[in-house]
Amino acid sequence: MSPNEILIHDHLVSRRQQLAGVTDLPEHPRMIDLLLEVDSALERLDHGDWGLCTICHGPVESDRLLTDPLVSVCLDCLTIEQRSALEHDLATASQIQSALLPARLVETPAWEIASVYEPLGAVSGDYIDVIKSVNGSGHPLVTLGDVAGKGVAAAMVMSHLHALLRSLIQLDLPLPELLDRANAMLLAATTASSYATLVVIRLFPDGTAEVANGGHEPPIAVRSDGVEPLPVTGMPVGLLPSVSFRTHRIRLEPGDSLLLFTDGLSEAPDENGSEFGRRRAASIAGRNQGKSAAAILASTREELDAFLDGGQPADDLSLMAIRRL
Ligand SMILES: [Zn+2]
Repeated sequence: MSPNEILIHDHLVSRRQQLAGVTDLPEHPRMIDLLLEVDSALERLDHGDWGLCTICHGPVESDRLLTDPLVSVCLDCLTIEQRSALEHDLATASQIQSALLPARLVETPAWEIASVYEPLGAVSGDYIDVIKSVNGSGHPLVTLGDVAGKGVAAAMVMSHLHALLRSLIQLDLPLPELLDRANAMLLAATTASSYATLVVIRLFPDGTAEVANGGHEPPIAVRSDGVEPLPVTGMPVGLLPSVSFRTHRIRLEPGDSLLLFTDGLSEAPDENGSEFGRRRAASIAGRNQGKSAAAILASTREELDAFLDGGQPADDLSLMAIRRL
């Protein structure tokens, strides 16, 4: 067994013990079914055919196995009923995720914050949030991140990250400490492959922006005298224990802005495989200096469409523009 399979094996054995306790109650037929499914997965792990479809013997999709190690049939071999149940689950997941998103345009007396969120499938591993005023302080806090991996597994980590940051943000901590705690909590609650790149920005009424960047694509500051990528100030969260985070402070004048994006923009490939690139994103932002946050995003989105030239996006896409009023 691979190290991953040993982990899953141990996890299933402990799940089996928990279930066995419950099935003493005769009125739990679903528990007995579940117990049989766990036993069957354990048997497949022992025989070395866990992760293979029991019908066609091809590999089962790895992101489905990651969220449910009991899965034993690949997507192609599902019955029509099973497939429609799965589609229903995904539609529900998509609705739940949409409810976590901020309004497309958030305005405070000193700032306007526009965002675009486009999942590739039903759900996305991208993460964006805007908290208009933390504890009534009048200082908005903005986050944008990207969970490693794709699909449902990444979306589950995204919603976990959303919940833990929402509660940490209420503590009004300095940003390095906020990221430090988020890092420890994500490490404790998820698997080693579950981590996220993350930018957190605290905005002040005088035009100061405090930026902490855990391994994410550098935000671009757009000012009347030019564009400037902001530094990465730490590691992605949930990747390694005891890493330290720093912050970077900048001052924006009225009309200046910040452009944030996920690699769904910077790494979007055209038909020849060349990437959209950070430079192109920066130059679009520069050309739109002084325009509204929504206009900056609309222009970026249009340029991406032109670059893809009819081709489909290859990844989740999130964009955010923050403009000082
Ligand atoms: Zn199959």
